[in-house]
Amino acid sequence: MTQQLTDKIALVTGAGQGIGRGIALCLAREGAHVAVNDLAQNDHAAAVVDEIRALGRQALVVSADVSQRAEVEAMVETVSAHFGRLDIAVANAGMSVRQPVIEAEWDGVLRTLEVTQFGVYHTCQFAARQMLKQPAPAVGARGKIVIIGSVHEEQPVPESAAYNMAKAAVNHLGRTLAGELAAEHINVNVINPGWINTPGERKYFTEEQLEIAGRNVPWGRIGTPEDIGQVAAFLASDAADYITGASLRVDGGYMLGLRLR
Ligand code: NAP
Repeated sequence: MTQQLTDKIALVTGAGQGIGRGIALCLAREGAHVAVNDLAQNDHAAAVVDEIRALGRQALVVSADVSQRAEVEAMVETVSAHFGRLDIAVANAGMSVRQPVIEAEWDGVLRTLEVTQFGVYHTCQFAARQMLKQPAPAVGARGKIVIIGSVHEEQPVPESAAYNMAKAAVNHLGRTLAGELAAEHINVNVINPGWINTPGERKYFTEEQLEIAGRNVPWGRIGTPEDIGQVAAFLASDAADYITGASLRVDGGYMLGLRLR
């Protein structure tokens, strides 16, 4: 694709690193100006803003914890005031406290749901409200919302019940909201990534373990943030105007079964 998002205004949550960063950079390469959200307590977002500006686009750090409704509401207001509108929202931020159900401490379960499920809800709700305030174009979409789910919405990875529950929920949120907003020409779609090499995964696996394990994915390698970013950019583009309520696996065939040799 080339420059399909020229001068569109995008917000990507959890975009300081990993898949969110990959999405933010892909949207910027396609011409969008991007608000880069991450937690205030890390300094990841500033570096991504520099990378986006180096591409010739505008960019803004918008720190917020997506689990906090008031912070998400204020973030959407800040982005809309700074850029004049919001065309694309990508609800990417997520995390998982990994513990077996039998041993799980409630704080970890709750935090996982608050960020990975409710954080997506807050982002989608406030972004959609903003898009509805903006005049509808004569043709085409009024706004694009992309939710980052996971193949674990369907395949239950052990020791991650809260995460699996959240990912199933955001897929259903996406379909529900898509139905509610179709007449308004706001597209809502979910990308369900497979196994992607990100700093989040490298908390649990070394680079070498990820590379070796990736050979068992049918495509023969683990995914990259750019694999997801390119699909997000497509879903945010005019070319995808007639796609809404879709849940799209981007997993190199992961869900077809591991290639065991
Ligand atoms: P990552 O490498 O951990 O990056 C996530 C970013 O989001 C980090 O900068 C993190 O900050 C930030 N963040 C965490 N909690 C936040 C909050 N409450 N508000 C705002 N920002 C927050 O994660 P990733 O692997 O790229 O995953 C991104 C999304 O893709 C998640 O929704 C994840 O579930 C999904 N996903 C990932 C994979 C995979 O294999 N990597 C597969 C399927 C789906 P800190 O680092 O300071 O916590």
